[in-house]
Amino acid sequence: MKVLVIGAGIAGPVTAAALGRAGIEAAVYEAHDGPAEHLGSFLNLAPNGLAVLRSLGMLGTVLESAVCPSTAIEFANGSGRRLGRLEDGSTELEEGLQTVLIMRGALQARLAEAAAAQGARLEYGKRLTGFERTGSGVSAHFADGTRAEGDVLLGADGLHSPVRTAMDPGAPAPAYTGLLDFGGVAHGARAATPPGTVRMVYGSRAFFGLQTAPGGAAYWFANLPHPEPPRGPEAPGPEHWRALLLERFAGDLPEITEVLSASPVRDFTAHGTYDIASLPRWCDGPVGLLGDAAHAVSSSSGQGASMAIEDAATVARCLRDVPGPAEALRRYERLRRDRVERVAAEGRRRGAPKLAAGRLQVLLRDLMLPVLFRTISLRKGHSWMFDHRIDFDRDVREQLPA
Ligand SMILES: Cc1cc2nc3c(=O)[nH]c(=O)nc-3n(C[C@H](O)[C@H](O)[C@H](O)COP(=O)(O)OP(=O)(O)OC[C@H]3O[C@@H](n4cnc5c(N)ncnc54)[C@H](O)[C@@H]3O)c2cc1C
Repeated sequence: MKVLVIGAGIAGPVTAAALGRAGIEAAVYEAHDGPAEHLGSFLNLAPNGLAVLRSLGMLGTVLESAVCPSTAIEFANGSGRRLGRLEDGSTELEEGLQTVLIMRGALQARLAEAAAAQGARLEYGKRLTGFERTGSGVSAHFADGTRAEGDVLLGADGLHSPVRTAMDPGAPAPAYTGLLDFGGVAHGARAATPPGTVRMVYGSRAFFGLQTAPGGAAYWFANLPHPEPPRGPEAPGPEHWRALLLERFAGDLPEITEVLSASPVRDFTAHGTYDIASLPRWCDGPVGLLGDAAHAVSSSSGQGASMAIEDAATVARCLRDVPGPAEALRRYERLRRDRVERVAAEGRRRGAPKLAAGRLQVLLRDLMLPVLFRTISLRKGHSWMFDHRIDFDRDVREQLPA
């Protein structure tokens, strides 16, 4: 069997490595000209995703680029009043499974390296323009005029997935969650967080996250309630967003203004946050979707990358164990759907307090959040996400009979 994987972001390289371990030939086709090492800001990689990488022999390479552990969150409101603290519990896990902060581009590049080191084939400068079903499989077409033939085609091509659109033109588009996301790294700002801890601030008009790494660099992100901005040439530039963020955080904790002022203007690129609550179909015959293409979850969940990694291992197990690609992909969807839809709903829930507007809503939010954080902490509310483990070697037919 030969599998064509479209996209070498996060899901793509992991899928190729997992298929290789399963003894299945795979090739990854990525639109960019090379591993996009400098693309995007940073993210947190959670224990459930790290555990999959460990089982596929990719963890060591990825951890070489991890900036620092990120295992606790302390919450405050805009005036600095403490709202709560959550430990994610990963400090109690085996070495290597502690949640880490990592640049998104570095993660992609290390995953691609680790997959290639295991013999996976990754081809860059290959933008998929379409595909067609052939008698025995799928033929993929690329913008450079070339084609590739395979038995299975997997769309690991991200939020605005061309594979999803071609597979199911009626599929719902990703829904804008009402928040713009910004992220950057500031040097020389007078700000410090305790080791391994992100400080999250529910400001009076926007939300801010900050973690300082050993050495002092300040990794920050901001979520700004805002209507969906236009894309393309009409999209406002970084100067506009920088000024707007400084205005929206004026009056909140001074360290926020300090960090934003110390960041290069290029960091103020707006990313809309989107999710897909439930996609009707993740597969059709020998064509399937994974990662953000199948189920984008809002960045407030902190799980997008880890969900993509879990999908990758699961789809490879299904193609290994279940006879016939179409049935294997259906089994993969059944194994994954409930979990990722629960994570998507959790992301929405976590994002909701960030949308509070006006004095009354902000006041109510600041009264309600300490109770919520205490409840989550007492019930170990993260564990259903973080403790999930995939036994790569186990036959999926034992886990989910036909
Ligand atoms: C601002 C922000 C913050 C985030 N924070 C977190 C976090 O803290 N924790 C977390 O786990 N997740 C986070 N995420 C989410 C995470 O980045 C995504 O969920 C993850 O990247 C999904 O991986 P993927 O492989 O499915 O898609 P992507 O990483 O988007 O990769 C898709 C790839 O497909 C390629 N592609 C697209 N079209 C084509 C085509 N036609 N032909 C060939 N290739 C194509 C793209 O170039 C890209 O390389 C965040 C996302 C954003 C935007």
